[in-house]
Amino acid sequence: MSTYFEEIIKTSEANCQIFDITEDVEEIIEKSKVKNGIVTVFAIGSTTGITTLEYEPGLIKDLPKLLEKLIPTYQNYNHNETWGDGNGHSHLRSALIKTSLTIPIVSTEMTLGNWQQIVFIDFDNKQRTRRIAVQVMGEM
Ligand code: ZN
Repeated sequence: MSTYFEEIIKTSEANCQIFDITEDVEEIIEKSKVKNGIVTVFAIGSTTGITTLEYEPGLIKDLPKLLEKLIPTYQNYNHNETWGDGNGHSHLRSALIKTSLTIPIVSTEMTLGNWQQIVFIDFDNKQRTRRIAVQVMGEM
């Protein structure tokens, strides 16, 4: 069994900006030389998200709209009283969407659907540089 680790770095405008990171993950799998196994993609940070989505112009607007309905930006959150950083909604969105994903690798390919991209979302309320940890495990 072999393992390979690398990070993806993204500079984000925050406020639910969505990145398609599928190709970044594919490149890391290629470098790992793993043929069969799993890849774990984990966004570092408590105001981030990792999920899958069809990455097209409609859905990248629809998902932030849905989250705004479920967890509005401007509402009284206890977290905002704790730190005064105004990003209670960002942490809650992160907890809902979650920050990691594990995908099977079969014959060097991820078992993703044709319209299923891996997306990284920054829920925070200020611009920052983000790290996404990618760990590939399996047989070469
Ligand atoms: Zn906070």
